[in-house]
Amino acid sequence: MAEVRYTAGRHFLQIPGPSSVPDPVLQAIGQATIDHRGPQFAKLGLKILDQIKQVFKTESPVIIYPSSGTGAWEASLVNTLSPGDKVLMFETGHFATLWKNMAEKLGLEVDFVPGDWRHGVDPKVAEQKLAADKNHEIRALCVVHNETSTGCASRIGEIREAIDRVGHPALFMVDTISSLGSIDYRHDEWKVDVTVSCSQKGLMLPPGLGFNAISDKALEAHETAGFARSYWDWDSILENNKKGFWHYTPATNLLYGLSVALDMLLEESLDNVFARHDRFGEATRRAVEAWGLEVLCQEPEEYSSVLTAVLMPEGHSADELRKVILEKYDMSLGTGLGKVKDKVFRIGHLGGLNDLTLAGTLAGVEMGLANAGVPYKQGGVLSAIEYLQK
Ligand SMILES: *Cc1c(COP(=O)(O)O)cnc(C)c1O
Repeated sequence: MAEVRYTAGRHFLQIPGPSSVPDPVLQAIGQATIDHRGPQFAKLGLKILDQIKQVFKTESPVIIYPSSGTGAWEASLVNTLSPGDKVLMFETGHFATLWKNMAEKLGLEVDFVPGDWRHGVDPKVAEQKLAADKNHEIRALCVVHNETSTGCASRIGEIREAIDRVGHPALFMVDTISSLGSIDYRHDEWKVDVTVSCSQKGLMLPPGLGFNAISDKALEAHETAGFARSYWDWDSILENNKKGFWHYTPATNLLYGLSVALDMLLEESLDNVFARHDRFGEATRRAVEAWGLEVLCQEPEEYSSVLTAVLMPEGHSADELRKVILEKYDMSLGTGLGKVKDKVFRIGHLGGLNDLTLAGTLAGVEMGLANAGVPYKQGGVLSAIEYLQK
């Protein structure tokens, strides 16, 4: 068995997902499990299925799976497409690459637009690609909203406008796994056909729930989609959801948690939640700038309010810095993924955190930079709190 170490105070879980789970959510999850075919469960199911729509800003159904985000990715593809279909994807970073790899494994033909991992999707490039597809062979356009490996958030509304300018009929699928419940997202207004998400990031829950918000157009595509599917199939879930149930055993205790997390988000109001995260992003970037370090994202319009990826000075290891900070201050920061492994560390500022959590997080980074012998200038925390205290 792993050795259990008890330490004073709380661990700072400042990775960009899983985010730290608020106490009321943990307490809800700790309630006794109930009969998932009984009347009490039906009430819970109906409440959640209704409230979750508000978070996606949709009137359409939202499917909830007991799954990781990766499962919800797969569900989006197999429910709407057929083997050999052409899809357009963009290399914004590690997660976009994983989604592309999955699409290829499933037998889709992917046009993967290369990227430098420092920008989101360029709406102009999306427009050119679609305009060049005169015969409308591209069946779907898949975009990661908040690229969690880089801290660049793509402009989904502008990509929608680009699709409309060309008048291309492709399905629009968006991964909001790390953005939902932290930065503004509008499933209906942006006419997204499948929005993919999961529980452990902005929704402030432990890992274990995956989501597909779907449009009428996606449901229509579903009728003729040729992929074999069973567990991920929307039909029986939609049918059972009408009465608040699932045909298999849902993750009852995580749904208790989801119910409370939704109450919390809606009570604070989504606009306030988004404004809170925007402030955290700005405060963090001010700290990074004062330290004399560089933010990975190069497009100010695409700065993420969910996380900030920070480039290490040449010759210094991001993972060594993270190790020092974990050992000395009991704080976890996000590791660099894929192409930016060891070159960046990521500060998560998503989910249920407040000004002091962020100030403490930045203090841990600033002290860690000194401890790890990384060249930096003092004053990052000061810059951040001067901004936060306003
Ligand atoms: C975390 C994340 C995923 C993967 O989710 P899992 O629950 O680990 O499968 C996919 N996309 C993005 C943008 C993410 O942040």
